[in-house]
Amino acid sequence: MTAPNIDTIVSLAKRRGFVFPSSEIYGGLGSAWDYGPLGVELANNIKQAWWRWLVYERDDIEGVDSSIILNRLVWKYSGHEATFHDPLVDCRECKSRMRADKLEGYFPEGGGQFDANERLRDGLVKCSECGSTNLTDERYFNMMFRTRLGALADEDDPTALAYLRPETAQGIFINFLNVQTAMRRKLPFGIAQVGKSFRNEVTPGNFILRTREFEQMEMEYFVKPDAEHFKLVDEWVTLYLEWFKGLGIDTANLKLHEVPKGELAHYSKRTVDIMYRYFPERAEEERQWEELMGIAYRTDFDLRSHSSKPTDEEGKRVNSDSTEDLSYFDESTKQRFYPHVIEPAAGVNRTVLAVLMDAYSEKTNDKGEMRVILKLSPQLAPIKAAILPLAKNKPEIVGMAKAIKRSLQPVLRAVYDDTGGIGKLYARQDEIGTPFCVTVDHQSLEDEAVTVRDRDTWEQERVKVSDLAEHLQKRLKPYPIPAPEVS
Ligand code: ATP
Repeated sequence: MTAPNIDTIVSLAKRRGFVFPSSEIYGGLGSAWDYGPLGVELANNIKQAWWRWLVYERDDIEGVDSSIILNRLVWKYSGHEATFHDPLVDCRECKSRMRADKLEGYFPEGGGQFDANERLRDGLVKCSECGSTNLTDERYFNMMFRTRLGALADEDDPTALAYLRPETAQGIFINFLNVQTAMRRKLPFGIAQVGKSFRNEVTPGNFILRTREFEQMEMEYFVKPDAEHFKLVDEWVTLYLEWFKGLGIDTANLKLHEVPKGELAHYSKRTVDIMYRYFPERAEEERQWEELMGIAYRTDFDLRSHSSKPTDEEGKRVNSDSTEDLSYFDESTKQRFYPHVIEPAAGVNRTVLAVLMDAYSEKTNDKGEMRVILKLSPQLAPIKAAILPLAKNKPEIVGMAKAIKRSLQPVLRAVYDDTGGIGKLYARQDEIGTPFCVTVDHQSLEDEAVTVRDRDTWEQERVKVSDLAEHLQKRLKPYPIPAPEVS
């Protein structure tokens, strides 16, 4: 089973320390969220699994970590200053402000060119809040957060203007030549980066699904201009579907969406989105899905735009600010060209939410009480083993349990917990997805053995303390994420 809706996860996340509403003591901050002690572990485990999967297990991908604030010119030549905007409309009836391109009726059926304002005036577009078609014309709003560099900069000094990055990708493109030469790479190869991005979203919401500050895991895969780009998009889609499956997500909750031509971003020739069923409670199947990640063919748009050499029809340099030519010389064909790019771009927060929703399950115990079990894949579980003393007033038992915790810690994340009766402790660990509870009881003092309880089956077995680390490690490994094939 999966969570019946996002609200179930919101309340579990707050109660158990995964995610808290941000700035809550000051009334919150429009759709901002903070990871708590367990959420930060889960998010880190997802990011580490991704990094291992791409950067370590493959031999053709390097990692970088670029600045969040880049030279403003990066965003001029990437096209973001001119085009990274969302259309905004207001509802004259209920006064809501919304992103127009997310509303029912905005795009004509069957795609193709269209005049959005004409459709709005014709009453074809519906307010998502009250259903009215009495909407204003759309106007564009740039989503990049602005800031000023330097303590003495004036409010409107254009030379001090800078942006918080709205995607991590540009930090990769501007380092393409650095990475390629330093690491002596030949095509095809990729560069991966994970980090924060910022977008002044018109309508953030749905918990951590859409926030103004979020984290991305992006990879730019550089290939030759004559590679089979559309096929490569399909290959990366397949690899990511496998990866999500490896994270424990049921493929029935994933589906593909081929982005129609009219909706493609300015740099993309083809984009396939992997959608997750974030809204299973909605009756209409079509409305259950939202984007988890996108795989885009970005052509040579970015490397070419950031290069000093390309000229327009009149022979004038297109980019008069860049000092470098980000082209690539192919030794085998003696040709110079701008590499083309396939970009799988995933959101950390949306992956966290999908993983939580998919792991959610309920089980009734023999007293007829409903228990929540978070069936997280062991590699993602914030805590791998909880060491519990059966009697916390018995110093020998407590001492032994604490010593076991310390001895396990170098090999796996373990905690010691004595904050309740054993039933309560088990229930709490089930609800946060801990795969194993290890109980130290009176008999442990004599036979040097403990009880290991399995989260999913609630079965218990007796294990010698000397074998415990190996026993747990073996059982924590049944979910390897397959390494992607190098194409
Ligand atoms: P959407 O259409 O939902 O606004 P997008 O197509 O603009 O998303 P991309 O630019 O393709 O998103 O970004 C890649 C990934 O980054 C998305 O698939 C998503 O996982 C994540 N992402 C983008 N915007 C947000 C956001 N505001 N909050 C959380 N994650 C986001």
